[in-house]
Amino acid sequence: MSIFLVDEYKEMEPYVPGEQPKDKLYIKLNANETSLPPSPKVFEAISKSEIWNMSYYADPHCHEFRKAVASVYGVTEEEVFVGNGADEVLSFVLMSFFRRGMKIYFPDITYGFYRTYAKTYGLDMEEIPVKDDFSIDINDYMDLEGDIIFANPNNPTGRAIPIDDIEKLVKKNPERMVIVDEAYADYWGETCLPLATKYPNLVVVRTFSKSRNMAGTHIGFAIASKEIIADMNSIKFSFNPFNLNSVTMAAGIAAVKDTYYLDKCINRIVTNREQFKSDLENLGFHVIPSKANFVFCYHDTISSSELCEKLKEEGILTRHFADAKLDKYLRITIGTEQEMAVVLIAIKEILAEVKV
Ligand SMILES: *Cc1c(COP(=O)(O)O)cnc(C)c1O
Repeated sequence: MSIFLVDEYKEMEPYVPGEQPKDKLYIKLNANETSLPPSPKVFEAISKSEIWNMSYYADPHCHEFRKAVASVYGVTEEEVFVGNGADEVLSFVLMSFFRRGMKIYFPDITYGFYRTYAKTYGLDMEEIPVKDDFSIDINDYMDLEGDIIFANPNNPTGRAIPIDDIEKLVKKNPERMVIVDEAYADYWGETCLPLATKYPNLVVVRTFSKSRNMAGTHIGFAIASKEIIADMNSIKFSFNPFNLNSVTMAAGIAAVKDTYYLDKCINRIVTNREQFKSDLENLGFHVIPSKANFVFCYHDTISSSELCEKLKEEGILTRHFADAKLDKYLRITIGTEQEMAVVLIAIKEILAEVKV
């Protein structure tokens, strides 16, 4: 730490993303990316003319991209904010609507970045324990005195809060902002999006990193009332107007319009997830029912940290969290049929070794 870092930031806890080792070729099932390629329309969109376009600044209002998102989700451009990943979009939400010392609530088991944001922005965070089966009781959130953020479906458990519960919460607390991070909602098939333009205190955040197979472009968006979106844009124009580059936006426009390809990819991953879950259960694993593109599981005969290590030796990356409440479990992202078949063989071999 240099002598220049300001006191407010001395307690930051930078987020640790899933590792991206390059020492050899891995089957990469540790960061909930998809191994499927982006839409074929994206391959067409990134043409030579996009390279010529690099000479000029991209549109900081992101009109074309926001219009494309708006038309796919049945809202207006004024109700859409786009950014450099869901992470940046969430960051703009916190920058716009929170100040130091303000209260924020989230479940004790959820996306680790929320804790990081709370520290970065000096918020007074309170983590509400999830139930033993990792489900979330909305009644625990009904009568609090601050804003709330949920990942729905939740990461790393794959559990989802029913949309009706979220609506009850939002309706009963018009003065409190509820932020719903729907990074995995496509794999669930349910969404709060229609509520986001109905209730002025709800913000729904989405990403292209998971179901659109485009983590490398890092695109995220939010849908909310036009007042909320205008506020976020004011903050953006006071911080970094060009948060999305022209190549990324060209890719994003092509991808968002290709709903046929999106549905095909989602169906494939959901089918693979259900198959993999039942294969794991046949091997004696305990698997939390997942609404996302990963499973959260453990086996009685081997610790999840050891299983994670052994799989890595076999060239397969999965995610183990050292946190006491998560330590027992291993999170495995769902990939292609071939990848899941290879993982299954590796797991069988590891379990057989442990038995002898
Ligand atoms: C992966 C993930 C994100 C990150 O999305 P980006 O668009 O890649 O920043 C956000 N929220 C949750 C819950 C995630 O799991």
